[in-house]
Amino acid sequence: AYTSFYFSKPLKIAVMGGTFDPIHYGHLVTAEAVRHQYDIGQVLFVPTGHPPHKKQSEVTHPEDRYLMTMLATETNPAFYVSRIEIERTGFTYTVDTIEELKGIYPANTEIFFITGADAFHEILTWKNAEHLLSSCTFVAATRPGYHRKELSERVEKLGKDFGDHLHFLEVPALSISSSDIRQRVREDRPIKYLLPESVENYIYKHALYGRTSAT
Ligand code: ATP
Ligand code: MG
Repeated sequence: AYTSFYFSKPLKIAVMGGTFDPIHYGHLVTAEAVRHQYDIGQVLFVPTGHPPHKKQSEVTHPEDRYLMTMLATETNPAFYVSRIEIERTGFTYTVDTIEELKGIYPANTEIFFITGADAFHEILTWKNAEHLLSSCTFVAATRPGYHRKELSERVEKLGKDFGDHLHFLEVPALSISSSDIRQRVREDRPIKYLLPESVENYIYKHALYGRTSAT
């Protein structure tokens, strides 16, 4: 009886897409907060392949970003990493990823999409924004400098009532960013405590951002 109850419960998954160049505690704290808040069974981290808005030469090799994401999520039993975008050739679009995931998981799976509020702002300009908004529930982590009111208004401007599809969540560790971490490494400044130690070690071992050790 217990098992049939377990399997009849609709699965809730949360997707967190990102460049993860590198993954850091901002991403991890946010994903864990969403998992807890919405009782999510599985959080899927999806490192980007070739995002249309970033030049390939400026982004670390996908396999390095994938491995860092694996290292960072290893200790959380609900966290998984997907190669779905890395394996895709050409530009990767989130809307295609969501569609592909829908084909993989049971039909009644509820999909949450986690973004920083800044990234959510961009999503509204993405390919098929409306379709994307109607196909999953968005959870936007609010970051300093981004206002929910403005975001809600922009969603309303899309012409439909997507209110139920957009949630906000306030998370600490919001001022950590990958670009700041990369710059810190280049400038020989510490990154310790901003990201998991395993990721920090990986960065120096492979001289990802130009340095082989912290001083
Ligand atoms: P960059 O500085 O290069 O833009 P990033 O730190 O924003 O990198 P991404 O891989 O671009 O990292 O982000 C993936 C997702 O995580 C995006 O939705 C982004 O808004 C969100 N995010 C990034 N940093 C944080 C943070 N500190 N707290 C919550 N969400 C974050
Ligand atoms: Mg970003």
